[in-house]
Amino acid sequence: MKILFDDKFYESDYADDGASVPGRLEAIMAAIGAETAFEVVRPQPASEDAVRLAHTPAYVDTVKSNAPLYNMATLAAGAAIGAANVALTGEPAFACLRPPGHHAYRESAWGYCVFCNMGIALLQLKQEGKIESAFVLDFDAHTGDGTRDVLSDWKECHILNPYADNSEAYLKEIQDFVKGIPAVDIVGVCAGFDSYQKDVGRKLTTFDFYCMGVLMKQFAKKAAHQRRFAILEGGYYLPDLGKNVLAFCHGFQ
Ligand SMILES: [Zn+2]
Repeated sequence: MKILFDDKFYESDYADDGASVPGRLEAIMAAIGAETAFEVVRPQPASEDAVRLAHTPAYVDTVKSNAPLYNMATLAAGAAIGAANVALTGEPAFACLRPPGHHAYRESAWGYCVFCNMGIALLQLKQEGKIESAFVLDFDAHTGDGTRDVLSDWKECHILNPYADNSEAYLKEIQDFVKGIPAVDIVGVCAGFDSYQKDVGRKLTTFDFYCMGVLMKQFAKKAAHQRRFAILEGGYYLPDLGKNVLAFCHGFQ
């Protein structure tokens, strides 16, 4: 399994919000960076053309006027693209990035997000003719409204934001949904760990994150040529963030 990560993601002064807090990515990399089965790969920033697949020129220009933010956001989108390309080879990948992206609409963003990392990665592969269909699971505590907006015209892209309010029902909702969709070319996971029982979502356990990793691995093996990648969204309870990401990755690999 590959981990898409660059030390630049440790920089926390590109913004002042919950996703940019110091120590957040350190907590994750301390847990997953030490795994010998995981190879850390440095991403390239996304091109402006790639970003424009998901966003309007006016919005891209607005972000561009803030150079530190633009540089961080294009590197995040590039990490998502990198992870998606690893997935195409049949090897799983996790992009440990910030700023997150699932609240980034075509022409605006909120909730600590800047560019729609998942949308950009999938639209880039689609434009290159590498995929025609996709499934996106977003298990963040908050609905991935931006991802839904960016990918809304793509009928062969199926998106699930589970809403069930306890572990058992939540996992069943995912299982039931994937039973009802056709085979796809790739599985993308918007991995938001704020659905954790001690985080704002107050719902899922560490073991649930492992189970969701397993479910997506199984679905990818059955219906997506094993192709699967995940990208970081939310997750703000730092004492357990590393172990939760690690649990997901162990299930997903
Ligand atoms: Zn969230």
